[in-house]
Amino acid sequence: MQATEQAIRQVVQEVLSQLSKNGSVPTGHVTPAGNHSGGDWGVFQDVDSAVQAAQQAFEQLSQAPMESRRTAIEIVKRICEEQAEELGRLELEETKIGRLDHKIAKLKLVRSIPGVEFLRSDAMSGDAGLTVTEYAPFGVIGAITPVTHSLPTLAGNVVNMVAAGNTIVVNPHPAGAKIASEGVRRFNKAIFDATGLQNLVTIIGTPTIESAQAIFDHRGVRVAVVTGGPMVARAALKSPKRAIVAGPGNPPVVVDETADIDNAAESIVTGAAFDNNLLCIAEKEVFAVASIFDQLMNAVSKHGGYRLNAQQTAQLTSMSFSPPKEPGEHHVLNREFIGQDASWLAAQIGLSIPQNVQILYGETDEHNPFVPEEQMMPFVPFVRVPNVDTAIAMAKMYEHGFGHTAIIHSNNVKTITKMGRIMDTTLYVKNGPCTAGLGIGGEGYPSFSIATPTGEGVTNPMTFTRQRRCAMADGLRII
Ligand code: NAD
Repeated sequence: MQATEQAIRQVVQEVLSQLSKNGSVPTGHVTPAGNHSGGDWGVFQDVDSAVQAAQQAFEQLSQAPMESRRTAIEIVKRICEEQAEELGRLELEETKIGRLDHKIAKLKLVRSIPGVEFLRSDAMSGDAGLTVTEYAPFGVIGAITPVTHSLPTLAGNVVNMVAAGNTIVVNPHPAGAKIASEGVRRFNKAIFDATGLQNLVTIIGTPTIESAQAIFDHRGVRVAVVTGGPMVARAALKSPKRAIVAGPGNPPVVVDETADIDNAAESIVTGAAFDNNLLCIAEKEVFAVASIFDQLMNAVSKHGGYRLNAQQTAQLTSMSFSPPKEPGEHHVLNREFIGQDASWLAAQIGLSIPQNVQILYGETDEHNPFVPEEQMMPFVPFVRVPNVDTAIAMAKMYEHGFGHTAIIHSNNVKTITKMGRIMDTTLYVKNGPCTAGLGIGGEGYPSFSIATPTGEGVTNPMTFTRQRRCAMADGLRII
């Protein structure tokens, strides 16, 4: 029985694919190359055309069996996995931030992002009959993606959103638009060849703030999904459209006197060094109690950290930040320093250190701009505090209420619980690197979009669905 169903599905799939290639499926303008007019395998120069193509793709996807979604997602995962080295190198060459080994690792991680297997239906059965709740797509989703993980975020969004039956129009960060567009071309071509579906994801080839705004405002876009920093998060939250916002973070780490110090040091280096500290979940500042502070500082150097003295730390600070333009405003981060290697940062202050150093670190007070600002570079400030309550209070203050990520190293259950309650963050990691919160070294699944101010958490296919209820009165209950 199963074999017959499978065979029928395959035949239907092949017929659909053939028809579509011949331009006979009502999918809009099908050129001989299989593209919507004006598009280059999903890459468009204007928002209207990109949305229109994504709308047509949504109509086509809505008619296709679930198996087509599975196939499309498998293609995105396969391309990210098999072409990770080439695509990772292209992303690094274009964005000039981060590390090649971790650009490759992030693309390979797309394999673990949940797809259609994550979808479910709910049922309520009782005297009055049977009611089923199904999780339906929204339609066209507008996605804004960051430069820190341009193609991985796009690919992860495609896996989640297509699993739920949506299509996507993307406004990438201008500094990562080429690699994002290249990914879109490769995905769409391979998906079209395998399924006949085209333009499941469209992208603005030359994106601007205006094109992002036009996507927020477009009537054809049902939901905006934004992954980025404070400016774009604020813009999305002001938009009248439903927005799912994966906003900025400034993850603090607390280390108390009961912690496994060696594990704490190793975890801090592992998390903070990943892609040169570009991750929004990465360890950005450490508050450690005085009784273990020196021991922790020594342990960090055993795990790939290079300690700067007070003068070197001050030098790096003054090169990495300019003073606030107005009193009370933020320090201004020197964008040239973002995502650079530790050895490059060291060279800026006249230090020659081995290439394999993972992070720079040093003791600072809480007012050093590296503490309050989201630096996104491999220098981690360590602040000495008298006790764990002070550490938690500072962690709370310098997380700024983003509600993103907080980390603790402690073996005191009461302290761990207390900090978790006070921080109230989306991710709370204990006794491991930040990545444990995304299923790397911890339980769970990954995503490159962690919806913080809007509360959806680590996004998955269910995040991109709307509920539809189907009620049968007085019937279909068979017990
Ligand atoms: P960014 O805010 O500079 O850019 C993000 C995107 O928003 C880009 O596509 C950019 O072109 C666009 N944009 C910026 N300002 C805009 C505005 N006013 N209106 C419309 N669009 C606008 O961020 P980035 O440097 O690319 O990425 C790093 C930031 O993103 C960090 O703050 C990091 O914490 C955050 N981030 C969060 C997550 C998460 O899952 N929560 C994931 C990755 C990155």
